[in-house]
Amino acid sequence: MKRILLCLILASPTFLLAQQYSKVKIMLDVTHTMQQLSALGLDVDHGRHQPGKYFIGEFEQAEVAAIAAQGFKTEVLIADLEANRLLGKHDETQYRALPPCPEQSPKVYETPASYQPGSMGGYFKYQEMLDILDQMAQQYPNILKAKQPITSVYATHEGRPVYWLKISDNPTQDENEPEVLYTGVHHAREPNSLSQMIFYMWYLLEHYDTDPEVKYLVDNTEMYFVPNMNPDGYIYNETTNPNGGGMWRKNRRNNGDGTFGVDLNRNYGYEWGFDDTGSSPNTNGQTYRGPSAFSEPETQMIRDFCLAHQFQFALNYHTFGDLLIYPWGYTDGPTVDHPTFSSFGPYMARDNNFLNGFGTQTVGYVTNGDSDDWMYGEQASKAKIYSMTPEVGPSFWPTADQIDALNKSCMTMNITAAHLVLNFGLLTPGGNQFLDAPQGSIL
Ligand SMILES: [Zn+2]
Repeated sequence: MKRILLCLILASPTFLLAQQYSKVKIMLDVTHTMQQLSALGLDVDHGRHQPGKYFIGEFEQAEVAAIAAQGFKTEVLIADLEANRLLGKHDETQYRALPPCPEQSPKVYETPASYQPGSMGGYFKYQEMLDILDQMAQQYPNILKAKQPITSVYATHEGRPVYWLKISDNPTQDENEPEVLYTGVHHAREPNSLSQMIFYMWYLLEHYDTDPEVKYLVDNTEMYFVPNMNPDGYIYNETTNPNGGGMWRKNRRNNGDGTFGVDLNRNYGYEWGFDDTGSSPNTNGQTYRGPSAFSEPETQMIRDFCLAHQFQFALNYHTFGDLLIYPWGYTDGPTVDHPTFSSFGPYMARDNNFLNGFGTQTVGYVTNGDSDDWMYGEQASKAKIYSMTPEVGPSFWPTADQIDALNKSCMTMNITAAHLVLNFGLLTPGGNQFLDAPQGSIL
């Protein structure tokens, strides 16, 4: 009997692969720092950080043990995140419930009529995403260029393409309009980075004929979308956890030593591997940076896509933490364009109150090889891209009933990103401050 039970258990991939993840509060002080946590190869770029006090993140048991072994005091806030999610409990430990900006009420964005929840805990399975993208192209060929692979020359480790789409008037032509890029799912366990993009795309498509602001943006910009740049990792999660809750983060490179995966957001080529704190040299680390800069097909595709276009602004979506992060990531300090970034940040986050700033101002430590540092920092082979990383929401897998509000929380950032590549300015009463659009024009 025991043998039969064991066989059944071993035959279940879910049982074999599922690790229990907990929400853990890690206490910080002068001798227990974010840098030390980061040096353990842990994912500490997604979570809630109070500098010098604590960091709250989602970790598996072995990671919690490693943290404790370093002498950190820890408090388990939610012992079994998956059990919590299946019970439909909201994870309130993380949410930044700040009041809206006092001078204005956030614009209300209605849920697009075509937006339907996915079947993976409310999130989209990969095939569902592909079907939705095809449905969009079928319904709105006048303003959407249908999905196509970034390249057909190479593919992900498991042989998949990465798709892009474009929303603009005359979408099949390059009209030399200002270009903005939106990406999702650098990290496989961040499905709301995809959901909010599908929501935004439907919103643009459905409102083009009726909303003058949407029409203005669609007519005058070229908006590019890469909704899911890590299909292998994403499909891995939906295979192990068909109802949601999969916690795989990296891509699916076979590292050849029994471990899998490279952290795609540590694999870009600007100051790649700058130190072992901002990325991990260890193949089993959550932040493993890969054997070389741009070693991964997924980051190569984003690189080549950027080199083939003239993006002025990019939003690379992640979850979670209620943050809006911009360069630098690799070092503790601002870029020379900090006046511009720091003007954009609060304006983009005006409705959702995301904490905005460069890496050490937000996540509280350095990261190297990330998308934003390369998109902005690489200025020899292309022009700089004002690139930012939103970290949306309270956890990797918020419950299905939370998704709609999280999608809506991204709308102002998305719309504003498109405005910022056009002639755009903001006059604040009594402030004498201007937001300067990337192309250098002000109101
Ligand atoms: Zn992420």
